[in-house]
Amino acid sequence: MYLCKTVLIYMEKKRILLCLAHMGGNEKKYIEEAFRTNWVVPLGPNVDAFEHELETYVGRNKKVLALSSGTAAIHLALKAVGVNPGDEVVCQSFTFCASCNPICYLGANPVFVDSERDSWNMDPELLDTAIAHRIAKTGKKPKAIIVVHLYGMPAKMNEILKVAKSYDIPVIEDAAEGMGSEYSGHLVGGLGAYGVFSFNGNKMITTSGGGALICPDEEAKSRALFYATQAREPFPWYQHEQIGYNYRLSNVCAGIGRGQMDVLSGHIAHHRHIASVYAKAFNGDDYIKFHGNWSGLSRPNFWLSTITLSPKLLGNGCVTNGGPAPGVENLRIALDRAGVEVRPLWKPLHLQPIFSRCPAYTNGVAEELFRSGLCLPSGPMVSDADVERIVSTISGFCLRCGV
Ligand SMILES: *Cc1c(COP(=O)(O)O)cnc(C)c1O
Repeated sequence: MYLCKTVLIYMEKKRILLCLAHMGGNEKKYIEEAFRTNWVVPLGPNVDAFEHELETYVGRNKKVLALSSGTAAIHLALKAVGVNPGDEVVCQSFTFCASCNPICYLGANPVFVDSERDSWNMDPELLDTAIAHRIAKTGKKPKAIIVVHLYGMPAKMNEILKVAKSYDIPVIEDAAEGMGSEYSGHLVGGLGAYGVFSFNGNKMITTSGGGALICPDEEAKSRALFYATQAREPFPWYQHEQIGYNYRLSNVCAGIGRGQMDVLSGHIAHHRHIASVYAKAFNGDDYIKFHGNWSGLSRPNFWLSTITLSPKLLGNGCVTNGGPAPGVENLRIALDRAGVEVRPLWKPLHLQPIFSRCPAYTNGVAEELFRSGLCLPSGPMVSDADVERIVSTISGFCLRCGV
């Protein structure tokens, strides 16, 4: 009898997921409009309007191209800055594989650079060292730098842009997780030569799947559009002089995007609020450290809230197959049993088997973060009560570990 009751209580609790999509309500209106007017194609009024809204949002006279994914946007950004087979491209190591995969699509070679401890993003000094070393070694400078605003935490852009400028190398900002984050009073994604947003289902806003390329001007946008639509030359017949891609966003999905623009600021505010509740709960905790804002210059969107565990909780070594520390995996399992989805931090790309032969300039930071950190649920579907449940499960885990 007692057992049944416990099982019931367990089943009644909703599962708390990392970051779920949340609809504002107007999405359907724009989708229905697309159907009613038969604009069920990868161009049309929703695409144009969504791009226009994104341009107004990003500001700085940037032009925005709506695409089928954030990965496609990175691919086109690399194409736009002239990356060719055999070139080297510097990429932040501490990130999702999509930041880097398009380098390989182009037959170019990734060069990984480790992170600094404040923002967890690309270390500007190490970037400088890496570029100088690549030039000395290969006689050629890298063609581009991909910097990531991981978990929505702005990277040290002033320093990175300064290094990039000193070598005259364009910076591509992967702001897939950083939509709405600000640095020095500007939105991230609009600071480098090109910027990238993702509208995948788990990002700040969604189009079910989609992305955007932030371009410096109209000419750059139309060039990227040319490659995104199979590189069709301006002839009455299909004439091709370049290899293109099929990367345009569907007018149906763009309708979702338009509806999501209405709730974007609400989403960002909620992510920030949830982060502040976590931050307060872990404030002064000796064993769990919340990754908070690192500077007055930056205003993160806190897409996901992240924590690191103290060495006392971690245990020795790593779990098998190159995973995080045993303590991180044990906490993940404990939370999973309590109905909470968490995820280890991104495994650094220079430690991924597929990239093990790429040059990497490391300082141990990304590796240590991966060994010791977790992403916690965030976003519009997570309530204060959910955070309370998550924090108390973590506290219970710490108690059982004897700390
Ligand atoms: C999600 C993500 C991407 C890719 O975006 P998609 O729209 O899923 O292709 C790129 N970089 C980072 C850091 C991401 O989190």
